[in-house]
Amino acid sequence: MKDQTHYPLCKSELKKVYTPKDYLVNGEIFDIVECSSCRLRLTSPFPDKDKIGSYYESD
Ligand SMILES: [Zn+2]
Repeated sequence: MKDQTHYPLCKSELKKVYTPKDYLVNGEIFDIVECSSCRLRLTSPFPDKDKIGSYYESD
């Protein structure tokens, strides 16, 4: 799992929005970041492919 500082598609800077304390999944903490260009919000670090199912379950 890598820490992402830039959104891989538009290469724009990501700003940390907040660290949600309610979003613990499997004991892992991750931040919500927002792309300064397209305003897309995503998590950092990104979930691994084999773990992404559990992230959706907590939605
Ligand atoms: Zn973007």
